[in-house]
Amino acid sequence: MHYLITPADEVEHFIGLRFTIPNIHQDFIEVQLPAWRPGRYELQNFAKNVRWFEVKQSNGEPVQFEKITKDRWRINTININEVIITYQYYANQPDAGACYIDEHYLYINPVHCFMYVEGRIDEPYIIDFNLPEDVVIATQLEHKGKHQLFAPNFDYLADSPLIASANLQHDEVNIEETTLHFWFQGEHTIDLEQLKRDTVLYTRKQIEVFGELPCVNYHFLYIIHPYPARHGVEHLNSTVIVLGKSEEQTALDFYNDLLAISSHELFHLWNIKRIRPQTMLPYDFTKENYSTLGYIYEGVTTYYGDLMLLQSGVWSLETYFKSLADDFKRHIQNTGRFHYSVAESSWDTWLDGYVIGVKGRKVSIYIEGMIAALIADILILHASDLKYSLHDVMKALYERTYKKERGYTEEDWFELLNQFSGMDMSEYTQKVIYGHGNWDRYLLEVMHLIGCEITVGDDGQVTVKPLVQRSVAQENLFAKWTSLR
Ligand SMILES: [Zn+2]
Repeated sequence: MHYLITPADEVEHFIGLRFTIPNIHQDFIEVQLPAWRPGRYELQNFAKNVRWFEVKQSNGEPVQFEKITKDRWRINTININEVIITYQYYANQPDAGACYIDEHYLYINPVHCFMYVEGRIDEPYIIDFNLPEDVVIATQLEHKGKHQLFAPNFDYLADSPLIASANLQHDEVNIEETTLHFWFQGEHTIDLEQLKRDTVLYTRKQIEVFGELPCVNYHFLYIIHPYPARHGVEHLNSTVIVLGKSEEQTALDFYNDLLAISSHELFHLWNIKRIRPQTMLPYDFTKENYSTLGYIYEGVTTYYGDLMLLQSGVWSLETYFKSLADDFKRHIQNTGRFHYSVAESSWDTWLDGYVIGVKGRKVSIYIEGMIAALIADILILHASDLKYSLHDVMKALYERTYKKERGYTEEDWFELLNQFSGMDMSEYTQKVIYGHGNWDRYLLEVMHLIGCEITVGDDGQVTVKPLVQRSVAQENLFAKWTSLR
């Protein structure tokens, strides 16, 4: 499979794509454009950005085709063994999960605008670019040349965003066998030496959880806007993080936010990119991939994103508790928690998961999943006399599923919670994961176990802080949970 990419119109924001499909031996083929992208579990129907779709033979003769679904084309290939599809893609969405082009840079998420041939999704792709000589391409894809990339199959291509720009800033640092790459597009005042030091610290902490960092190169692709922005998307060996400072943010708040989102996305390297629900293995790009397990792939990740910054010493307890209090505030303010569970809300991300939605209808898999993970972690620490924590559950899940080349099920998760807590966690499952109604008492109970309290002020401000007087048991549990193990 071959693609040629041309910046077709930087002012009107169109990318030109030329897709060559060789070795055709059937009377017809079907080409598919994805309807959604991993990381955002809702249909986005990328085909609405496609214009001027044409199919020709290599000699320029037009080829007959028809559209058979909103994003699938059937092409007549009787006596034709190679076709060239050309189209333009509208790229004017400057967040981390989409495509964008202007006179400064080209940003592509291939899952938006690259197609696959039904039955040939596992074939390799070569991607060439028509770009000026001084443009550099940052991506997890293998470079065959300065402006030529290689993907072993469509799944990897779809998961590999790229930035092409003459103004990319690059730096790198090594952790054992792995090189962490830092790419910046856009003006910023971040201290790169500090960022590298902090990144190494929280990355090492995450490696401790799983026992290994399963990639040779990992790329942090940062796009910095001159206006407020905040979005990150995880990939197998990279992440894209789009940020812009708001006026009310201090430089320190902005930097801490950058660390929070970076640590979250890095944790996804294991949790979703490698440890993945069975029902999403492989992804079906044509339709909804329903799952109740968002409290694991987003909730646990949200919990660990911040926790790793605390446990690695990058964040102070004060900074961590401030972030935790913000999440608790969102939990308290959403009355949806009295009517709809986090598992049900996960299923419904395909319906309205990424908008506020009808008041009181649902909850956030990020916030409620984070709190569910916090409760599980402290319950396990407490029940096992500080011997085990959620770290052990995550490591075992990684070893039992990814390392055995399978996805996980809900049974895997609950079995591991029981195993490491040494108790029956079915009440937790029924109330916290599947329950309707007020399960806040579980949160208050675990906060009490670590000797902390949550207070809500008259103005609705939430504060988390350690109790002044704590028992030895509370001290011990708190010390184990924060660091620091
Ligand atoms: Zn996430």
